[in-house]
Amino acid sequence: MQRRNYTKIIATLGPASLSVDAIRTLLRAGASCCRLNFSHGDGASLAPLMANVREAARLERRHVAILADIQGPKLRIGRMPAAGALLIEGNAFTLTRRDVPGDDTIVRTEHEELAQDAPPGTRILLADGAIELEVDSTDELNDVHCRVITGGRLFSHKGLNLPGRALHTETLTEKDRRDLQFLATTDVDMVAISFVRRAADLELARELLGNGRKTPVIAKLERPEALERLDEILDASDGVMVARGDLGVELPFEQVPLVQKRVLARAAERGRWTIVATQMLQSMVLARRPTRAEASDVMNAVLDGADAVMLSEETAVGENSVLAVKAMDALTRAAEQAERRGSGADLGAEAHSFSVGAAGAAVAAAARLAARAIVTLSGSGLTALQVSKWLPPLPIVALSSTPATLRRLDLLRGVQPLEIAHRAELEDQLAHADAFLLGAGWAQVGDVVVTVGAMPLGAGRETNTIRFHRVRAPGSKTTIPPAPR
Ligand code: PEP
Repeated sequence: MQRRNYTKIIATLGPASLSVDAIRTLLRAGASCCRLNFSHGDGASLAPLMANVREAARLERRHVAILADIQGPKLRIGRMPAAGALLIEGNAFTLTRRDVPGDDTIVRTEHEELAQDAPPGTRILLADGAIELEVDSTDELNDVHCRVITGGRLFSHKGLNLPGRALHTETLTEKDRRDLQFLATTDVDMVAISFVRRAADLELARELLGNGRKTPVIAKLERPEALERLDEILDASDGVMVARGDLGVELPFEQVPLVQKRVLARAAERGRWTIVATQMLQSMVLARRPTRAEASDVMNAVLDGADAVMLSEETAVGENSVLAVKAMDALTRAAEQAERRGSGADLGAEAHSFSVGAAGAAVAAAARLAARAIVTLSGSGLTALQVSKWLPPLPIVALSSTPATLRRLDLLRGVQPLEIAHRAELEDQLAHADAFLLGAGWAQVGDVVVTVGAMPLGAGRETNTIRFHRVRAPGSKTTIPPAPR
């Protein structure tokens, strides 16, 4: 029997996973999507990697989505000695705009308004919060003089956060705008925008991507302002990423688990796609097995309803990138044994939408009829998304003839994309789905299948039809085999 894929795995590509062969290995281990991190490159350097993903997918005969992750206004320090410098608790430490070499007393930062954004008393966190400073004073050179509150070894280009402070920066930097304009010329499948603060940030990103192309835009939730405007951001986005790295620095870390649960629940109600990201299997950057705490974390993200879980350093620079994907795959599969939502009654929001109503009804009917699969038909993949949000305990086979739609469908939880011929007759498409279900060992002749979609096909209609049929043997002439006695 073919293995069903369930919660999807996003693998970030980096030095450990650049070649076509390395990407193929990650795909075979269970990855569904490749993330390109524009914090470590731009169009010119990442275009060859996009080509490698497409080549790996072609060789694997898979539809693999590319997620481009735009850097956003991430503040960073400048260069430090190769071995880093040890910042000692109680000592003075200065952040400057001046081009000076870093040591244990000073480091450069490019953030022009740091002195304005960090008045005396401000907490400054370096290196994902590992090092904490408090601002004593600023001077006429705009140097920010601090005291080290929590010391540690500081290396080049580490992140700098001012938790809880509104920054004098645009969400989309000059680099981001150039990167989005580059992406507008490519066939990228999705774009994630970092440090989103309001809906307007996403609207601007869509404009730069070329409004007509409708590339899905994912809001990375990593600023407190974004959480205050969560509904507005959900409405303006196609999906959200709980970006726990920066979120856990901008907010007290103990708030992150509940924020994750709240965001996933709200996004499910609104039919938005969700990713849980960062440090999911962090120890596997070096170790060959995850810690028990990491295993619990991945499982909890799945039980909370995440569509996708993301690996960052684990696959980008880790020594065990393939083992990390395999561990993630094993954990997401194990979660399939758990109780699911799938009752067809608890997604209340947007009930006026045909696709939401039809999806809930299809899931409820599938449960009552003990159906073996739900087959979706829609141009954009919206019906499949809405069905997947119910987390039904059976495969969702999503038919499409468009490669870009098939790549996006392969990101939806519990969804198996299936390519069909362009403009094929409905009966032929359903026969194709039956043949696939039989071949995968997911159904037998006579089993019930629920089909939901927009008909007539290709007419650009809203989801409007639910249909039932029994699986037919390939080549069978009978449209509806006799019901079993
Ligand atoms: C994060 O902060 O959790 C995140 C995913 O962003 P990045 O890896 O781009 O810092």
